[in-house]
Amino acid sequence: MTVRSPLLERDRQRLAGVHADLVRVVERARLAEPFIVVEGLRTRERQARLVAIGASRTMNSRHLTGHAVDLAYWLDDGDGAPKAGEVRWDWPLARKVAAAMKAAAAEESVALSWGGDWKSFPDGPHFELDRRTYP
Ligand SMILES: [Zn+2]
Repeated sequence: MTVRSPLLERDRQRLAGVHADLVRVVERARLAEPFIVVEGLRTRERQARLVAIGASRTMNSRHLTGHAVDLAYWLDDGDGAPKAGEVRWDWPLARKVAAAMKAAAAEESVALSWGGDWKSFPDGPHFELDRRTYP
């Protein structure tokens, strides 16, 4: 049986190189809440630029190994194309995505960590596989 996923083609492309367990969680969560995939696998060059501008604090990012994704709530107006203003970074909406991701992770028995739960540098769009289970 094939499950139809609401993920956009561009989202699938952005999941290239991401760990299959994390992709499964994203696919399942997307059935519960609308969101787009902002980024998955990241090059060292891009990570270094993000650190340089203060957008990231580590060169030990899980994005470098395919263990992390960034997701943004998508306030779709119904035409199926994310446009400016429809991709939201508000915390209440990030929490809705996080609730869907955590529920999906539990259903898939995948150990997941949400950047929004981090105390020192909360990162609302960020989800990663737990380092202890997925070193
Ligand atoms: Zn991230």
